[in-house]
Amino acid sequence: MAKLNFYYGAMNCGKSDTMISTAYNYTENGLTVVTMMPELSMRKAGYTTSRAGKEWPIDIATRLANEDSPETDIYAAYHQFIGNHAVHCVLVDEANFMSAGQIEALEQIAKVDNTSVIAYGIRTNIQRQLFEGTKRLFELADRVEKMVTMCTCGDQAEFNGRFVDGTFHVGEPIVWIDNDPTRVRYQSLCGNCYREQSQQPGAINA
Ligand SMILES: [Zn+2]
Repeated sequence: MAKLNFYYGAMNCGKSDTMISTAYNYTENGLTVVTMMPELSMRKAGYTTSRAGKEWPIDIATRLANEDSPETDIYAAYHQFIGNHAVHCVLVDEANFMSAGQIEALEQIAKVDNTSVIAYGIRTNIQRQLFEGTKRLFELADRVEKMVTMCTCGDQAEFNGRFVDGTFHVGEPIVWIDNDPTRVRYQSLCGNCYREQSQQPGAINA
């Protein structure tokens, strides 16, 4: 039976890079992958991009509910996209930004359709609280693996700090896509370094 797999880590742990390599390996071997990603987290429309400069097209850009429309029904969108084609693996980037219901649709693809799903995501937001999608993946995934990344001090990074114009800023808005890296910079930090930064003069913590 196919598995729902979840690979999680702090930012910059190479999630997108790994997903792109996996997509490449499947495709190179003649196997079909379907890729998904929340639209709100795309730095380039229609693609996932890695810090190493690689990119891969996203087949299904998902949305959360807003005033105008309900959230993307991932199971329906997936079946509309694949039609009668066989799929070997579904790859999902930034799954942390999906709703609990959307993660349940990924589980449905794994369990009902018997198609492997590999989801990648960040564990906690900048205030060190679980994302909704991550929480549901921790609850439902058959397999959960941590991807390790390092803090600048040499310890393992567990958290994500954000610097805006050079100042530690983990207040509102929680979600701020770093399209302008000259202003907004995310840094993977260990618990000690996160604490130190949060206590610097001028730091914005709420
Ligand atoms: Zn550190």
